[in-house]
Amino acid sequence: MFKKILVANRGEIALRIQRACRELGIKAVMVYSEADREAKYVKLAEEAVCIGPAQSGLSYLNMPAIISAAEVTDAEAIHPGYGFLSENADFAERVEKSGFQFIGPTPESIRIMGDKVSAKQAMIKAGVPCVPGSEGELPDDPVQIRRIAKVVGYPVIIKAAGGGGGRGMRVVHTEAALINAVAMTKAEAGAAFGNPAVYMEKFLQNPRHIEIQILADKYKNAVYLGERDCSMQRRHQKILEEAPAPGIPRKLIERVGERCVAACKKIGYRGAGTFEFLFEDGEFYFIEMNTRVQVEHPVTEMVTGVDIVKTQIMVAAGEKLPFTQRQIEIRGHAIECRVNAEDPYKFIPSPGRITMWHAPGGPGVRVDSHVYTNYFVPPNYDSMIGKIIVHGDTREQALARMRTALGETVVEGINTNIALHRELMVDAKFMSGGTNIHYLEEWLGQHKR
Ligand code: ADP
Repeated sequence: MFKKILVANRGEIALRIQRACRELGIKAVMVYSEADREAKYVKLAEEAVCIGPAQSGLSYLNMPAIISAAEVTDAEAIHPGYGFLSENADFAERVEKSGFQFIGPTPESIRIMGDKVSAKQAMIKAGVPCVPGSEGELPDDPVQIRRIAKVVGYPVIIKAAGGGGGRGMRVVHTEAALINAVAMTKAEAGAAFGNPAVYMEKFLQNPRHIEIQILADKYKNAVYLGERDCSMQRRHQKILEEAPAPGIPRKLIERVGERCVAACKKIGYRGAGTFEFLFEDGEFYFIEMNTRVQVEHPVTEMVTGVDIVKTQIMVAAGEKLPFTQRQIEIRGHAIECRVNAEDPYKFIPSPGRITMWHAPGGPGVRVDSHVYTNYFVPPNYDSMIGKIIVHGDTREQALARMRTALGETVVEGINTNIALHRELMVDAKFMSGGTNIHYLEEWLGQHKR
């Protein structure tokens, strides 16, 4: 096992990884930007290294600064968390070339999955069901593009091969709008992702977002840890997640989970990963794979009892997965609410000094957050300041616990979206389960203030 790991991230996930290291008896070196000196995990760290100014480009995305921090502190491995450099194949490669273990899949796996066209091709080969669409990248010839769209059937969605974060997508309803939409998406993709390649998919009208968590080791052992329902989204950004997904038969989950495991074995995947699917009319359609730990991993931890971050570290150190598929059991129900520093209905970011922070507690309640009373939320990063996660024997009990937890939570000095979560937890449709990816935006439209 490693003696020392460098945590190349910030916020709640940096604290989460620090906690996993403590449990494993590993020293965690924390890195921070000048704006993050005050974060809890920096104050709690045995060792912390400032890697640059507040701007991410000069700190959390600064590969030489991060690798030198690992060198000067004698770390053996680097955990990238999520966001920042976590899905950057060049970073993973530089980490390994510098003699450190990257806690994640191989650079090749990241590269294949980072390009949505090659990811989809790999999945089709491995027998994972995908959204019908173009076979690979769209050609330049308008006649051929129109022909492909006709076969796929309108409406279609044009997506950037290198896209991410909900950007680089355009829905097309008619043939008249097609060629222009392809040209615009290509231009945007080239500018935003440095890769103008685009592909086409059938646009599903009312799907749910269901994803499968997997863990794999270097010895071709892989398991799936059930699913998460992340359909409550605004602008393609998840705001709350749950496990298991309400109303989907276990048999269907098992079937798709087994396909994901087979795909992992086929591509030699190691570490934690998530297969994201759209789910409509009883069918799963793969959209992309995330080759890192995700924000919403705790709901899976709560229902399976598996520590995903610890397991990531163990398999990166060359250990075998400590469990088999048969030992994975889904128990009860878990819900996660992301706490964002923002106006709850207008979504304007609200950084600043937290004058009062009181986190909830009690049976089945978990809070992952790096903030505290008197902490200053810097304006430079994502607005998420923590997550409240609850577990119950049933979904009803989990909902009741989340209501109680949100009721106990006090955050003063900045705005947060807790008021929105409180309303959603008593919304009849959400409570009945199975809302689709458009539900939250429709709800927000009807509850304008
Ligand atoms: P990103 O990497 O930017 O998150 P994804 O491919 O994961 O992009 O898609 C993000 C979201 O866009 C999905 O959760 C879904 O809401 C929507 N979306 C993507 N593809 C389709 C599709 N074929 N039909 C309908 N909605 C889609």
